[in-house]
Parts: sequence; structure tokens; C-alpha cells
Amino acid sequence: TTLSVASILSESATRHADRPALHFLGGVTTYRELWDQTRAYAGALRDRGIGRGDRVAMLIPNVPDFARVYYAALSLGAVVVPVHLLFKAEEIEYVLRDSGADVLVAAAPLLGEAVPAATAAGVPLVTVLLPADAGIELPRLEVEASVAVPIARHTPTGPLDAATILYTSGTTGTPKGAVGSHLSIIEQTHCTLIDAFDLRADDIVFGGLPLFHTFGQTAVMNIAFRVGASVILLPRFDADEALALMARLDATVFTAVPTMYVGMLEAARRSDARPPLRYAVSGGAALPVAVLEAFADAYGAQVHEGYGLTETAPTVSSNPLHEPIRPGTVGKALWGVDVAIADPEVEDAVVLLDDPAALGEIVVRGHNLFKGYLGRPDASDVAVVDGWFRTGDLGTHSDGILTIVDRKKDMIVRSGYNVYPTEVEAVLARHPGIAVAAVFGVADDVRGQEVHAAVVSHDGVELDADEVVAFVRDRLAAYKYPRVVHVVSSLPLGSSGKVLKRELVAQFTPVA
Ligand code: ATP
Repeated sequence: TTLSVASILSESATRHADRPALHFLGGVTTYRELWDQTRAYAGALRDRGIGRGDRVAMLIPNVPDFARVYYAALSLGAVVVPVHLLFKAEEIEYVLRDSGADVLVAAAPLLGEAVPAATAAGVPLVTVLLPADAGIELPRLEVEASVAVPIARHTPTGPLDAATILYTSGTTGTPKGAVGSHLSIIEQTHCTLIDAFDLRADDIVFGGLPLFHTFGQTAVMNIAFRVGASVILLPRFDADEALALMARLDATVFTAVPTMYVGMLEAARRSDARPPLRYAVSGGAALPVAVLEAFADAYGAQVHEGYGLTETAPTVSSNPLHEPIRPGTVGKALWGVDVAIADPEVEDAVVLLDDPAALGEIVVRGHNLFKGYLGRPDASDVAVVDGWFRTGDLGTHSDGILTIVDRKKDMIVRSGYNVYPTEVEAVLARHPGIAVAAVFGVADDVRGQEVHAAVVSHDGVELDADEVVAFVRDRLAAYKYPRVVHVVSSLPLGSSGKVLKRELVAQFTPVA
């Protein structure tokens, strides 16, 4: 049997040929055009010797070329390695070497980092979107594509053949390449379309989540292309621009991480424009209930929170579309995905807790699981035990409803008491002057760790740190409230929109 993620696009090129696949910079690409361009890129890659099992690294922002290169490589049976857009040369070089990349396709604006990385790793470099006057002589994929013989459909691939290698860093150590199979991605695409998203060919989906990350790649691009819907591509998220664009193009579905939700709330205070959203989906990090409610008010769209990870392609659970939402939970496991709660203290075995309502480590089983970390059998053996993947997240699974309490690694232990930052952040999000907050632990000689919060105020609001401390103290047990509140102008964000807590910890840890 053969199964290819490339068929997500090739099938829609037949069924939805003249429908828009992508909206980008005021232009529209239809499914037929996108597949034709993809086949031409595949021909160009094939002429460069790329075939089944080869690794195509790509450093491309959210522009149509991301989709072309992604499906072109997959259609050849090659494996795509999308590289984090914020990576510097050395980090890119690491990914190129670790993944055994056979070629790097980089967008011209990113050549400053891509050229030294590819040179050091000895990997051939091809560019897309090279402005004529860039002054760099490099092979250009779009030029090679025009002379290449387009391939017909796609190379047969086995369901368990590798399709993607997505690097995830965790808190410590070097990034690991999580290998996803064609089966895991296609299974995910179909299950999320049934359980988590109700997408139709006439939907217009917000595409501001980075496509190099699993959330944007599958929960936006793969599912939209599967049903023939269209995606509004945004290379860089700016809430005001996103709002204007979504309103102008009549976006119907908004899928984003919580920090984008906060941005959209700010934008809604500055503009009356509103897209005709049918619903919205949040994932990637905890969405404070206060933000969920404010978004529903401002945009007239219910927010359905889900939960997922790179290793699970990504969605594990969601608040289903046609059921009442349960704010503060991440809903029910997708069809075919088993969720259980394990003893977090036992490292070398997965010991399931009898009482699923008890707090423990969330473990996941199902077709959506990755194949392991590339070249790291030891790390893979720690992560997947008896077929269960240990997520590193703490939560409960009561009456089939999954609730994330926090990441194991973000939990703060203050004087022996466990403090879960997500709970404190949810209280901070209720403060009328606070737009966004992050809670983290800072090493403390006396208490082991002290609870700190970094808060950003709404536009034009003057925040008083002592008053913020008092606000939380009135609402939470004494060991939980932040003793130190830092009023900051912005939080450090990764390019997938998550708050980088490591950076906050480093910034606010006193130098000894
Ligand atoms: P990296 O390690 O690459 O820097 P990461 O650890 O965030 O990133 P991802 O696979 O991007 O890895 O994210 C998965 C994590 O995101 C989960 O383990 C969980 O902690 C968090 N997460 C996802 N959805 C939710 C949610 N709805 N609520 C709380 N946390 C969530």
C-alpha cells in the first residue's frame, strides 16, 4: 500500500481546481496553479537528484513557496525538514547535519543565515524568491523549475515512511528531530477534520501560524488543503494587519496560539473591522479563560481550545465544534487517540494511575505518534514506553475531559509547595489592566524557587507592581501568588508565538 501527504494537494488540484488555495499579498493562487507549480518544483528537485528518502531542508516563511517546496519534496517521496525561521547560522547548520539534509531550499531574505550554514555543513543551497539585484549567484529553484519536466503524480511511499522531521527543543539540551510518517499526518488531517474542525471548501482560514511548526503545517495548511478551503498566508503576524486582512478577505476560521488571541483583542480595541468568523481554535499553550471570553465577545466567535505536540502530529484533544465548550479544559481525545494519566515520578516505565481524575503525566497512544527522534534511540526510548508517549505535561483526564495543569518542567516548587504557572497566569489575565502575563520560577536560596510574574499592560494603562501582587494575593493561596512582579513592555516570544520562559528566568535571575 502507498500513502502520501502529497495527495492532500494533488487530490484537491483535481476536485477543487479553480478554487483559491492561497491568498497572499493581494493575490490568489488556485489549487490547479499551486499543484502545477509544485510539480514543476518537484521536477527541479528531481533533476538535482532528490528522490525517495532524501531530506529536503527548507528555510521559508509563510509564503506560497513554502507549500510548493513542501508538497514537491513529499511528492518525490523525500522527507521535508522545515527549519525554524529564527534560527541563526549555527543552529541551521546543526539541523542540516543532524537531519542529513541533501539540499537546503532557502528564501532569499534568509540567505544571510542560510549561506554560512549550508557552506559549513557542505549542503547544496537553492533559493526561492531571489530578487534580481540580490547580487548573489545561487541556483534558483523557480528558474530550474521552468526547464524541468514536471512529474505526473507522486512517488509511491509506504504509510510508515518518514514524511517530516520537525525539530523540537524542550527546555534543555540540543533540539531533537521528531520524525513524522505519512500515516501520522494523514490520520491527523482526517481525524481533526471530523472531531476538531468543521472545514468546508468555502472556508477562508487564517494562516498566520508559522508553517515550519506542526501546528500551522497540519492544523492549518494540511487540513485546509484536504477540503479545498483557502488559506490567508501571513509571513509575519501583526495583529492590526491580520485583523484588517481577515476582515477584507472574509476569513471564517481563526486558528492561533494564545499570544495571537491577546494581540487580536488589542487590535479589536483599535478597529471596528470584524471578519465573519464561524469559530476559532486555540492551541500550543494554555488559553486563559478571560481571554477566551473576551475574544468571543469582541469577535462573536466561540473559541475551541485543543492540545497537541510536535510528536503527536499535533492534535491530541480538542473541545469539539458541535458541543458546548468547557473553558479551561482541552476537551476530548481525538478519535483513535488514547489518553491516560501516568505516575510522573516513575521514569523508566509508564505506570498508569487508576484514578484518571488524579493529577499525573499525560501519556498518549495512537496512529498520530511520531516514529521517534532521528538518530536518538535513547531519547526515543525514554519518550515512548510500551507504546505510550510521555508528553511531559501534567494534567487530569476526568470523565473523558482532559485538563492541562502545566508542563512538568515549568512547575515551580516554592518551599516544597507545587505552584502551576498556568493557574496564576489565568488570575493575572482577569486583571483589567493586564494584556498578557507569564509566571515563572526563579532560584531562591531560602525557598528553592520564588514565584515571579512578568506582565504587559493594555495600551496606555499604568500598572503598579504592588497592586498586581495584591490582586493575585486576594484570589489565590498564599504560597502561589507572585512575590515579584515585573512590568515589561513585551514578553519574549518564540516565532511560533509561545512565551519563552527560559529567557524570562535568565533575565530575572539575580547574578550571583
Ligand atoms: P520547543 O520544545 O520546540 O521549544 P515546545 O516544547 O513548546 O517547543 P511543541 O511541540 O511546540 O513543543 O509544543 C507542545 C507543548 O505545548 C505541549 O507539551 C504543552 O506543554 C503545550 N501545549 C499545547 N497545547 C496546550 C494547551 N491547550 N494548553 C496548555 N499547554 C499546551
